Amino acid sequence: MAIEISEAQISQIVENVLRTMPGAKVAAPAEAKAEWDSTQYRGRTLTGIFTDMNTAIAATQEGYKALRAMTVEQREKIITEIRRLTREEAHIMAQIGVAETGMGRVDHKTAKHLLVANKTPGTEDIQPTARTGDSGLTLIEMAPFGLVGSITPSTNPSETVICNSIGMIAAGNGVVFNPHPNAIATSNYAVDLVNRASKAAGGPEVLVCSMAKPTLESASVMQSHPLIKLLVCTGGPGVVRAVLSSGKKAIGAGAGNPPVIVDDTADIPKAAKDIIDGCTFDNNLPCIAEKEVFAFANITDDLIHYMRQNGAYLLSREQTAALEKIVLVDQTGKDGKTRKVINRKCVGRDAAVLMDKIGVKVDSSVRCLICETDFNHLFVQEELMMPILPIVRVRDIDEAIDLAVKAEHGNRHTAHMHSKNVDHLTRFARAVETTIFVKNAPSYAGIGFGGEGHTTFTIAGPTGEGITSARSFTRQRRCVMADSFHII
Ligand code: NAD
Repeated sequence: MAIEISEAQISQIVENVLRTMPGAKVAAPAEAKAEWDSTQYRGRTLTGIFTDMNTAIAATQEGYKALRAMTVEQREKIITEIRRLTREEAHIMAQIGVAETGMGRVDHKTAKHLLVANKTPGTEDIQPTARTGDSGLTLIEMAPFGLVGSITPSTNPSETVICNSIGMIAAGNGVVFNPHPNAIATSNYAVDLVNRASKAAGGPEVLVCSMAKPTLESASVMQSHPLIKLLVCTGGPGVVRAVLSSGKKAIGAGAGNPPVIVDDTADIPKAAKDIIDGCTFDNNLPCIAEKEVFAFANITDDLIHYMRQNGAYLLSREQTAALEKIVLVDQTGKDGKTRKVINRKCVGRDAAVLMDKIGVKVDSSVRCLICETDFNHLFVQEELMMPILPIVRVRDIDEAIDLAVKAEHGNRHTAHMHSKNVDHLTRFARAVETTIFVKNAPSYAGIGFGGEGHTTFTIAGPTGEGITSARSFTRQRRCVMADSFHII
């Protein structure tokens, strides 16, 4: 039987293949920006987007009431439809994300959306438990909070909106988002996608909401609104502090600065490739991505050699200094003191774009800029979120662990190690106390990409929920039947 394939389908297949090839790139269309904003996509009005936070909360409350009246099976139908649309429109969200924020890579963002569609748990995550005994039967069920207020970042905007929506809806909640203003069109596209999925699966037309122009003020209205029962924030230290002082139940997913240790028992060619693959994923935007390396001195030259074979460019001392002046800028705080902070115009940019800023042309095969520094260098201390990777030589495992733990700054977020020495691996994992610890793999294995386990883009270290999923957004309720329903 002959199968006819149209030209459009062929180019889609080629594009899909290209996207899955390591290092492959698909450019965001130049004209894209005229076609979307925070309230429309190609002339189609986005559903669930409001100009006032109180109105958004009232609309979500109606959606939540409709969801409450539905069965868990119906909830799961909505989630199945969210997964389907996310797979189908992953590339659109990736393109808007790069075009709007100027950060990251279309091919990698596409892969992140597919990961969310495939590996975010649904209603299977909220199984009830029962306990029976001489005194009868006790049921423990995972109930919704009601309305969740979710603050989302610019680094994984639509990925976080969809991942949180799947988990929060699976748990039976309605969700109001106050997304990052710099990624508002991308985030609101994802909000609309969730609402389209809800409607198509027989759910309410507006189940999740967002703002046309989110501000700190709209976040503050959300935080103090009586209908918002749970706050979930994904971002840097400022926002985590803000929601934790709100007086409400809050889940905080904060900043990381993941160190990597490479000892002299590691498979060095593999470690070099894994580290460069992880560090350059979406141009280092994920909070779990490798940010600084502590390498045993006796294998550092080899490690650098193999990193260079995997698309790393070794910066000279002068180039490192020049780049430091560009990617870190002075900021004067409320206390009048000036300190260095990351230059937002460099975050998530391609290695070639960063090199261009110091007047050096490199071709697109360069995906990471590596340099040797000492421990106190700001490239080690600051969470750069750029494909720049400092390498610090260390004497032995004691020095490696000591410095890596200090570089992680007590975030307890993510750390990595390449080693075959079980004692070294165990010692570092115990000392660093991170939510995610990845051994002998790229960082993204820690969120289910080539590693076992489900995915999330909200990793709640500070408040302890860890790799969040539907159950993180529930409250436990107990129902007791004394002396009966115990049938043995
Ligand atoms: P950001 O901290 O600049 O912004 C995050 C969100 O918080 C945005 O929506 C922003 O508008 C809002 N916000 C900031 N201050 C606020 C305040 N005082 N009150 C209310 N809202 C406020 O983060 P970003 O640059 O978009 O993302 C990068 C940061 O987020 C990095 O530090 C990264 O490590 C972290 N991050 C963590 C996770 C995680 O799962 N732990 C995931 C993604 C990003």
